[in-house]
Amino acid sequence: MSCVFIISAPSGSGKSTLVRELLRAEPKLVFSVSYTTRQPRGQEVAGESYQYVSRESFMEMLNRDEFLEWAEVFGNFYGTHRSVWDSAVEEGKDLLLDIDVQGEQQLKKKIPDAVSIFVLAPSRAILEQRLRARSEDAEAVIQRRLAAAANEIRNYHAYDYVIVNDQVEEAVRSLRAVIGAERVRRQRMEDRIRPILETFGELE
Ligand code: ADP
Ligand code: 5GP
Repeated sequence: MSCVFIISAPSGSGKSTLVRELLRAEPKLVFSVSYTTRQPRGQEVAGESYQYVSRESFMEMLNRDEFLEWAEVFGNFYGTHRSVWDSAVEEGKDLLLDIDVQGEQQLKKKIPDAVSIFVLAPSRAILEQRLRARSEDAEAVIQRRLAAAANEIRNYHAYDYVIVNDQVEEAVRSLRAVIGAERVRRQRMEDRIRPILETFGELE
């Protein structure tokens, strides 16, 4: 059975960095490539970071009910296509989604056993430093992202796990610990347990 892992974080917390490292370390994990109406940024590659589409195409997909969840973030639309989940199940992979707080809430309603993880920078000052270090955004955008972070952080209680991204290696270790533990949750082990029990014959 495929597991669904949702990662959310205020922009600049280091989520993309952690996701990149995690995917390198966990071959059974597949990244959910979202659709977005925003323009590609920096080194982003179409089809890997996002599927970049026009607002018209996004609206058409929305009207056809093709999204598992979707949201408007910073004036752009983002959505997870239903086919992403279907292919992960078909391939026997676990799915990793990098989506915002609104998306997490929608997805938890549709897939209640999805596991959600909130990533935080150690402080506001460090978050600001990281946004500047990335130097992909204009000053006004940085200020908008910082203001949004203050609101997003208040939603941490909707998540199952919280990871403070101080050192990348340590944060990746924690993420892998969560993933490893969730994979062997009893409810997810039923398919493995049954054949083992059968070898012991009829059980009371
Ligand atoms: P996000 O995807 O959350 O917007 P990024 O992964 O783009 O954030 O990280 C923002 C900036 O912070 C990048 O320049 C990245 O290299 C840096 N960064 C990420 N994690 C750490 C960390 N633990 N320590 C120092 N710098 C980090
Ligand atoms: P960015 O433009 O910085 O890549 O992403 C902005 C925000 O949109 C981030 O919080 C990211 O997690 C979120 N996001 C990316 N894809 C999706 C998606 O498919 N659905 C939702 N709800 N949020 C998304």
